[in-house]
Amino acid sequence: MKLKDIVRNIKGLVYPDLCMFCHRDMPMEGHPFCLRCKVYLPLTDHFDNSENEVLKHLWGRIIVQHAAALFYFDSRGRVKEMMHRLKYKGYRSIAIEVGKMAGSAYLTSNLFHKPDVIIPVPQHKSRHRSRGYNQSAIFGEAVSEVIGVPMREDLLIKTSTTPSQTKKSRIERVENVLGTIEVVSINELVNQHVLIVDDVITTGATIESCAKAMEKIPGLKVSVLLMAIAKG
Ligand SMILES: [Zn+2]
Repeated sequence: MKLKDIVRNIKGLVYPDLCMFCHRDMPMEGHPFCLRCKVYLPLTDHFDNSENEVLKHLWGRIIVQHAAALFYFDSRGRVKEMMHRLKYKGYRSIAIEVGKMAGSAYLTSNLFHKPDVIIPVPQHKSRHRSRGYNQSAIFGEAVSEVIGVPMREDLLIKTSTTPSQTKKSRIERVENVLGTIEVVSINELVNQHVLIVDDVITTGATIESCAKAMEKIPGLKVSVLLMAIAKG
């Protein structure tokens, strides 16, 4: 046994990694929550609903083939807790688990058509440096593995840090985010069906700005996949 494994075993005895929700059962190794809690997470019906909340958010703003979120934010706050831990506490395993679940839902959906490429919503370099990872890219990578479609993190980039948006109106936010996202290689996206992936949709401004950055590319189609959305 390697020293690393011995240390992990000892750590496991003293501080077993308990399920983040029930704090009782132990999840399978590398998983953030146990199987029992997983069953009760608030799934949406978006993968088989052509009038779902994500689509309604984007209506009249961008043209999408299909769009879906895997989870609703529930009143018990479990999905909120997941998103918080993923964004601020370094729990990458959450994005992997949610990505695998979303990928599986995608495969059984009658509405989604397989995209050619998955593109995560880009993060500015400074944000990436401070957090150490882009949670949307980890999510996208897990989806990519399940549905067998490559993910490209280098095709869309964010070129300047968006100032704090919390006090601004929705219109300003769109303008604010627009123009900061750039397509790196237009040629590679001609006639491609792009699946944009992100963690949470609030106003939809980020997704809109990604799609708008690509909208002049000939033959380009866009679909959207998210981890979670508030119930409308
Ligand atoms: Zn549990």
